[in-house]
Amino acid sequence: MKQLTTLADAVETVLSAVRPMETEKVPLAEAHGRIAGTDIESMDDVPGFPNSAMDGFAFRHRDLGRGGGARLRVVGDIPAGSVAERGLAAGEAMRIMTGAPLPDGADTVVQVEHTSEDGDAVTVEQPIAPGANVRAAGEDLRVGTRVVERGRVLRAADLGLLAAAGVADVPVARRPRVAILATGSELVDPGEPVGPGLIRNSNGFTALGQVLEAGAVPVPLGVARDDRDVTRKLLEKALQYDVVITSGGVSVGDYDFVKAVQEELGVDRKFWGVRVKPGKPMTFGTCGGSLVFGVPGNPVAAMTSFEVFVRPSLLAMTGRPDVWRPWFPASASEPVVPSRERAELRRCHIAGGPERSFSLTGAQGSGILSSMALADGLVLVPSGYAGAPAGERLPVMALEGNSAERPPFPS
Ligand code: AMP
Ligand code: MG
Repeated sequence: MKQLTTLADAVETVLSAVRPMETEKVPLAEAHGRIAGTDIESMDDVPGFPNSAMDGFAFRHRDLGRGGGARLRVVGDIPAGSVAERGLAAGEAMRIMTGAPLPDGADTVVQVEHTSEDGDAVTVEQPIAPGANVRAAGEDLRVGTRVVERGRVLRAADLGLLAAAGVADVPVARRPRVAILATGSELVDPGEPVGPGLIRNSNGFTALGQVLEAGAVPVPLGVARDDRDVTRKLLEKALQYDVVITSGGVSVGDYDFVKAVQEELGVDRKFWGVRVKPGKPMTFGTCGGSLVFGVPGNPVAAMTSFEVFVRPSLLAMTGRPDVWRPWFPASASEPVVPSRERAELRRCHIAGGPERSFSLTGAQGSGILSSMALADGLVLVPSGYAGAPAGERLPVMALEGNSAERPPFPS
């Protein structure tokens, strides 16, 4: 690991290996949160016919007298969902409900509150503009209007718009399936006894949550002991998926088999070793159509490596343009301690206000998961940083939200 890759180069390498997922069709009721796989157009004009925006009376505006008022003969009743049996003749009106189609000949609707009724006659009591209270056909959408753009995350309003547009099956990007494999003979899953020298597998669970939060499908493959054959067997299985995340076993220890086994299985390594703390022993390669991430074993390094490398890849695979987290400058609310030869991502809490600030959430050791759980941001301290007093502004990456703007990764 003599020559460490810069964060900027490593991210660039990963993103340029991303291939878009194919598109699949899902029923509209299952499309919430999915990413549109193509532009989608309206199948119909919406509304499909001129209709009333009020409960009231439809009539011909030219039948009103000079002074505006008029007595009209009520010749029909049009509830929503039905169509008048005939058109309107001079001096006639029809009672009409909101959403019901205008009868032929009618051009205006007066709301019931502005009329008085007397037997089968209705009087329009207030001046009214021609065309009032009529929704024109196609005023919301026209046939062929683009209602959703490729790469858009489908939210509630989009589902409604697609329904209105007559789209029953929605083309969406297939969700990437992500195999998750923790490596380490010391690992047991929660619920199992932790014998001497054993710890619990937390990376398997943080990765699971991170994959879900990125809108992808986690496939947990459990724990591989530090044994070459066991690791090979499980990694071989993992390579059937779109994306593979292994944690641990990529450092320089005697039992770190992941890289060797990747090579045996034909993984084309793009880099190993990144100039960032935590996260140095990160490795990335491709195998067939799969992206293969080897994140470090230390729980915080595993999570920050996911944030920086895996998450943007998963979002880019679905065609989203906003694959990055939001980054912005924030001022330190305490002195900033120096960094050494690697850029550092320090766990912090971001405070709002006109000028955002950050404060560290606790000890920064790469195994201290509790300070990660408290963090809603990572502050980027450049390599070789001499330290600074409180008030210093540094780039901070939010751990929520998305942005299309490329982050200031150090090169
Ligand atoms: P490694 O990269 O395999 O040497 O692991 C580095 C450190 O992370 C060691 O202290 C491991 O015990 C720890 N570690 C590795 N994998 C996990 C995991 N899945 N859950 C929690 N800690 C882990
Ligand atoms: Mg290990």
